[in-house]
Amino acid sequence: MILRARWVVPILSPPIERGAVAFDAGTITAIGRADELRSHDDAVDLGDIVLMPGLINAHTHLELSCYAGRIAPTDFWSWLDALIALRRAPGAAPMEQQAIVDGARQSLLAGVTGVADISRSGTNLAALRAVPIRKIAFIELISGAATPPGDPEQLLALLDDALKSADDRTTVGISPHALYSVAWNDLRRVAAIAAERDLPVTLHVAESPDELEWLRDGTGRTAEFLQRYGLPNARAAIRGNWMDLLSRAGLTRLRPVLAHANYVDDTAWRALTGSAASVAYCPRTHEFFRHPPHRWRDMIAAGVNVCVGTDSLASNPSLSIRAELTELARGAPDLPPQTIVGMATRRAARALGLERTCGALHPGLAADLVAIELPTHRSATPWAAILDESCPVRDVWVAGRRCVENGSYVE
Ligand SMILES: [Zn+2]
Repeated sequence: MILRARWVVPILSPPIERGAVAFDAGTITAIGRADELRSHDDAVDLGDIVLMPGLINAHTHLELSCYAGRIAPTDFWSWLDALIALRRAPGAAPMEQQAIVDGARQSLLAGVTGVADISRSGTNLAALRAVPIRKIAFIELISGAATPPGDPEQLLALLDDALKSADDRTTVGISPHALYSVAWNDLRRVAAIAAERDLPVTLHVAESPDELEWLRDGTGRTAEFLQRYGLPNARAAIRGNWMDLLSRAGLTRLRPVLAHANYVDDTAWRALTGSAASVAYCPRTHEFFRHPPHRWRDMIAAGVNVCVGTDSLASNPSLSIRAELTELARGAPDLPPQTIVGMATRRAARALGLERTCGALHPGLAADLVAIELPTHRSATPWAAILDESCPVRDVWVAGRRCVENGSYVE
């Protein structure tokens, strides 16, 4: 199959005007100018379209999609209390299962072909099987949690089930929730499990200033939160800077994806910029919680691999990564658009260990493709169309299979 388009944006090289992408059995075989790419296969001319690699959401919780708009912007701990109350309400579990499917479909419609999705119960993979999206399904551990997994053994059991049902569009990973909610020994055990099985790891770090206060003094709203829910307080076993703790737990060498990293002091900065960890910045969720400006630009300049996530619909109006990128571009008009778009393509793929699978248009990579309509004025650049959500996503392919056609989801 060959797709021709007014613009092809490979990401690893400059956009090609009147370009084409050829793929076979789900894998890209060639890319170039339309008049140079010839084949006996079917060729489809998409017209005034920007054809680019599918976007990757590096941090989300699709199971919370059913709580869209249910919690008004507030401080992090009040938000978490409200979220826990919603999740404990009768009927929440089946609603959350459906939310995973709905969230994955919404993602595809927004041009997101890959989701790094964290699930509290580890059932996201079973739910996601119904949706042809590329998934990195993380199972989340909170030590002492009433809903399993509450310890590494329960995590292992869920992990075995998930690994048995994985397919070529699926990666299974582990997410120890955060330093304050995972006991120190559990954290070290999780790092060992991930190292042994070569599994991707992600966790929430430095999300609120209270978390840093707790790490420093063992006091404040984090300690109150743990006490309120009867969770073990790991502070007695750990002391130090969060990057230092991640390193001592054996996590930094696993190239973890660190969600948020909103509050990075000089000590953490030195360790972060010298580490193999990636950061998943969630711009609109960051705004929802009114955190001070994130240092993502400084991080990129210092060589940190920064990618983009939405977090969940409980703190974000949509699962559109293009909306996140548009927000970033608005606040950084001097930054080349390819740097910003790269955060949801090649950088995200690298963060999730998928750089040999997706994140760019290149022979040998999967045919995860998004077709975005160009605005009617012919002078519009492909970057401007990508970074403008009023230019709709028309078609989406994952591993060569069309999942969105003319803006509608295809079963
Ligand atoms: Zn999160």
